[in-house]
Order: sequence, then C-alpha cells, then structure tokens
Amino acid sequence: MGKTALVTGASRGIGKAIAIRLAKDGYDIAVNYNSNTEKAEQTAAEIRSLGVKAVTYKADTSKIDEVKAMFREIRKDFGGLDVLVNNAGVVDDAYLLMVNQPSLEKSLAINIQGYINCAQQAALRMAGAGTGVIINISSVSSVLAVEGQTVYSATKGAVNSMTATMAKELAPRGIRVNAVAPGFVGTDMLKSIPGDLVDKYIDSIPMKKFGTADDVANVVSSLCSDGFSYMTGQVLVLDGGLSL
Ligand code: NAP
Repeated sequence: MGKTALVTGASRGIGKAIAIRLAKDGYDIAVNYNSNTEKAEQTAAEIRSLGVKAVTYKADTSKIDEVKAMFREIRKDFGGLDVLVNNAGVVDDAYLLMVNQPSLEKSLAINIQGYINCAQQAALRMAGAGTGVIINISSVSSVLAVEGQTVYSATKGAVNSMTATMAKELAPRGIRVNAVAPGFVGTDMLKSIPGDLVDKYIDSIPMKKFGTADDVANVVSSLCSDGFSYMTGQVLVLDGGLSL
C-alpha cells in the first residue's frame, strides 16, 4: 500500500491545492470537507486523474465524534496514515468591540479544537507505526497584528504554540509537527475584503502581490519530505515579506 495523507478542508482553496500537490508527490489522499460535497468530489476526481486513490469524508473537524468516525473510515479505506494537514479554518473579521459570541465560539471550535481533535486521532495511529508528519496551517496574523483580527489571530497564535508542544510530545514517537503561516492568499477567504482594502494590502507587501494556494502547497510538500526530517516544532512564515 502507498503512503496516505489526510488534508482537512480540502474541498476548496489552500486545502485543495495541498491535496493535489501531495497527490503529485504520490500520496493517496483522504479529502475532508464540511459542507461542500460537490467541490470535495471535484477535488477527489482531480486527484484520481493523477493516478492515486482519493476518498472524500464529510466531517466537521470541531466535533470529536465526527472526527473519530472519519478516522475509522480512513483506516478501513487506506490502512495507515502518514501525513495529516490541519487546514480547515474560518475567518470572521470584526473589531474587538463588535465581536459576537456565536462567531467567537465557532472560530475557537474550528481553528483550535478542530486542529487538536484531528492531531490527536492522527497521532494515535502514527505512534503505532513510529512515524508520521503533521502540518498545521497557521497565518501571518499569528505574529502580526492586523486590525479586526483579535479572534482570528488568537486562534492562529494558538496553532503556533500547539505546534511546538505537539512536536515536543510526539518527537520520541517518530512524528514531526510543523506549521506554515501564510500571508494573504487569493482564495474564497479573501473575498470578504473590500476592493479598496485589497489594493492597500497589496501595497503593504514588499513583494507587491498576494500568495497563491500553490505557493503554500509547495512548502507543505517540502515539509513532508525527508529533506526536512530533522525539523520539528517550527513555524514557517510565507508572506512575501509582509511581516518584516
Ligand atoms: P477557504 O477557501 O475559506 O476554504 C475553507 C475550507 O475549510 C473549505 O474546504 C471548508 O469546507 C473547510 N472547512 C471550514 N470549516 C470546516 C469544518 N468545521 N470542518 C471541516 N472543514 C471545514 O479557506 P482558505 O483560504 O483555503 O484557508 C485554509 C486555511 O489557510 C485556513 O486555516 C486559513 O486560516 C489559512 N490561511 C488562509 C489565508 C488566506 O489568505 N486565504 C491566509 C493565511 C492562512 P467546505 O467547502 O465544505 O465549507
């Protein structure tokens, strides 16, 4: 059996690009999504056309019962699990004085609990094999104060700190854990930004452009490879110089 990677939130955007990049690297892919079945099936079809296996799994990563059920299915369908990419996330920008409880709770649940739920289930399986890689998708907002992102930046700061702790706990079990912190990447997530602000943001990036989902996918692919076999617990910022 070949190597298997689970990418959460792989129906669209960065997760889809990562899933396709890892498929090109020869991984069979478990495609997780929350609601968009049609787009998830499209991702899986593109992956299969590359000659590897792909199966879709509808599961809300913030709900532990759904996550456990997904991992049981993955074990039946693929056997082992070599890579987990924790990517499924939400952003709901609001100035502190405008933050409402349902939005706050949703962001904490998906961006923090969701990552821990999936990492826990993945680590249980990887530890048995004595090898594995976990990549957590963070954000430059974890290290750079962006107005309107009190909640989002808090969740991504949590991703950075959980990455370090997971890495320390799991290193003796042969599991590496690293994070990638992208700056602005042109996906659905950015569609809520008004046009005049887009120009302002681009102007603030030293490289004068947004990143692409493929830029992120290429870095994830490298981090999964043996070329990075001695690196764990780190956060790679990928932002065209925005945070400098
Ligand atoms: P996106 O285009 O909005 O896509 C979000 C993906 O996450 C979708 O596949 C969605 O599934 C899935 N998802 C959302 N909630 C979920 C849940 N509870 N359970 C399972 N899947 C769920 O987002 P993106 O821009 O690709 O962002 C992906 C990751 O990169 C996020 O962690 C984000 O914080 C991070 N990031 C993005 C940017 C950026 O500029 N875009 C920058 C830095 C970091 P459905 O299609 O089924 O809804």
